[in-house]
Amino acid sequence: MDVVRESHDAFNVFNTMAKVLEPKCKRCRREGEKLFLKGDRCYTAKCAIVKRNFPPGLHGAKGRAKLTGYGTQLRAKQKAKRYYGVLEKQFRRYYDIAARKRGETAENLLQILESRADNFVCRAGWAKSRAQARQLVSYGHIRVNGKRITIPAYSLKKGDVVEVDLSSQKNAYFESVKPTLEKYEVPVWISMDPKEMKARYLEYPTIEQAAALFDLTSIVEFYSR
Ligand code: SF4
Repeated sequence: MDVVRESHDAFNVFNTMAKVLEPKCKRCRREGEKLFLKGDRCYTAKCAIVKRNFPPGLHGAKGRAKLTGYGTQLRAKQKAKRYYGVLEKQFRRYYDIAARKRGETAENLLQILESRADNFVCRAGWAKSRAQARQLVSYGHIRVNGKRITIPAYSLKKGDVVEVDLSSQKNAYFESVKPTLEKYEVPVWISMDPKEMKARYLEYPTIEQAAALFDLTSIVEFYSR
């Protein structure tokens, strides 16, 4: 059975909202690379990684300490958490589910993260950051297989059809996004109709397709210590 399908219901009852309080640019500076948490600003010279690519804090400008094996694993885990906007407790829970499933734990974990509704909305090009995508979902602008959802962590299944609610498409935000979608490239595991603002989750992504951003093996090693 597919990992995501099997655990679908378990995810969807999990809807507690919690916040990461650390400023977004600091999170990128801590990881030493762009995590694209602020939308348009991330593509400009105002990006903190362009201006101050050293760790935050009093001694940050002295540079980055050499990482041990544990340090590398910890940073890989923190980076993925920050990228997807998931807190520790939930991330750990995702890992536990991924480890229990058949198949490679790293790939299972990737598929669980990629199947979150907020991530999908961002991948589809309807939001400029995962934080914004989270807001769009919780405000009820997104429908899955015709039903409105409001839980950003909602776990999508392969084959699901996700769309922007028709009445929402008339609001100023979506009207401004629509023209940009013609040129927007969705990942290979998603197909998207830019005119209808409707997308289908074709396949769960594989490590080869989506893992370039993260060292998933280090994340698995971190939790299986
Ligand atoms: Fe990260 Fe974006 Fe801030 Fe740059 S502007 S540091 S990519 S959140």
